[in-house]
Amino acid sequence: MRYISTRGQAPPVSFLDAVLQGMAPDGGLYVPERWPELDFSQSLSATHFTFAAMRVLEEFAAGDVWYEEDGLAAIVNAAYIAAPADSDDETWRPKWPKAVTPLRQIGPGFWALELFHGPSLSFKDVAMQMIGPLLDLALKRRDRKLTVVCATSGDTGGAAVEALKERERIDLFVLTPRGRVSDVQRRFMTASGADNVHVLEVDGDFDACQMIVKSLFADSDFAERASLSAVNSINWARIVAQSVYFQTAARTLSAPGPVSFVVPTGNFGDAYSGWVAKQMGAPIDRIVLATNENDILSRALATGRYERGASKATLSPAMDIQLASNFERILFEALGRDAEGVRQLYSNLAQEGGFDIPLRALAWLRETFDAVAVSDAQTLFEMRENSKCEGELVCPHTAVGRAARVAGGGSPRVFLATAHPAKFPDTVERATGVRPQLPAKCADLFERSEKFDSLPADAEAVKQYIRERSRAWT
Ligand SMILES: *Cc1c(COP(=O)(O)O)cnc(C)c1O
Repeated sequence: MRYISTRGQAPPVSFLDAVLQGMAPDGGLYVPERWPELDFSQSLSATHFTFAAMRVLEEFAAGDVWYEEDGLAAIVNAAYIAAPADSDDETWRPKWPKAVTPLRQIGPGFWALELFHGPSLSFKDVAMQMIGPLLDLALKRRDRKLTVVCATSGDTGGAAVEALKERERIDLFVLTPRGRVSDVQRRFMTASGADNVHVLEVDGDFDACQMIVKSLFADSDFAERASLSAVNSINWARIVAQSVYFQTAARTLSAPGPVSFVVPTGNFGDAYSGWVAKQMGAPIDRIVLATNENDILSRALATGRYERGASKATLSPAMDIQLASNFERILFEALGRDAEGVRQLYSNLAQEGGFDIPLRALAWLRETFDAVAVSDAQTLFEMRENSKCEGELVCPHTAVGRAARVAGGGSPRVFLATAHPAKFPDTVERATGVRPQLPAKCADLFERSEKFDSLPADAEAVKQYIRERSRAWT
């Protein structure tokens, strides 16, 4: 399996190179040259999550020889099955529940897919826990070191820290917008105590952080000398890992017909993973994009114009994103894989701040995707209703999805629950009057000491910072 760029001007690469590079050198994103079909002979509800993860990974890494025979099994086991407890360690807790991504019925025809049971309590852990051992194995094979950069609106950072802390061949640099993340989110980044983790609070919003990461890659001399890689939601490995729970959930619930998913969306990564699962044959009907007031995706689907607006701080900060990076991947498909067309539209975006989606591509998108924008007031209402009627606390991002319940056609509906409510205690308490408690496995989060630095939103300052600290720098 080879990976091609959505902008068509970079040579095809292997799975491992796509993962290590993050972004293609022509500014595009890697996508597989063809879509594999997956046929599961076993009922996925009767197997461990790692079984489906293995099967999916095998397809996308096919032909890569960097892993030994048992390499992929070792990766998924390290990711989703914790090492057994040391017999007298009282503090030991498994990283995941046995179900990894439990599916829970919340109404007639409605299910919640709980993706927040990993080490940093958000769905980002599902992918990042797999990326950790995958990079480790790959770097050992190639005898290389890596500088990993990551722009985060809050949850990617914590998940990356949990997955990459104390890895010998990796230095991690996390860029996070100052004042836009919750205390719990920040502590998952800053309180790891690991020497290879560097957290930078940037004076700007998430889009500014993401722009800096892009410009680090655009400086090819810097990128090469730092041996730079990104684990943002543009990273192909994240898409692959996230597509697994769409597979398991859809194939568990699909009798007699397909199911629809409601996905709280920012960078369009998770929703695109759902489309990938559908493309590989999972019985999926519609995918509903639930955005907060940063509604570029719902405007684009409604009007056909993809246009940057002003970024707003909302109660669901992990989705305070105006430019949804992964949208480029679905646009590439919507345009019939016309890289030249993608290039043109993105050059309009750079020059004029927007582009018109060609009509046929728009119609193609609407065949699968619905989009709904949800206000902060609706989000609070949804959280209150859930608490009052069901006694259930949901995080604000999950609530954005729940509030979008009108869309999605008549199929059974799966709502992605993307973060644990205790990651956003202030918002949850404001909505419900109840302060959610951290699970036992991370109850000491506020007792650990924090470490981070502050920098202006300036790519040169970030480069300097990395140059001085990365062990991969040559
Ligand atoms: C990142 C995140 C999202 C949005 O996911 P995308 O892949 O960026 O669309 C939704 N909810 C939570 C809690 C998140 O951390």
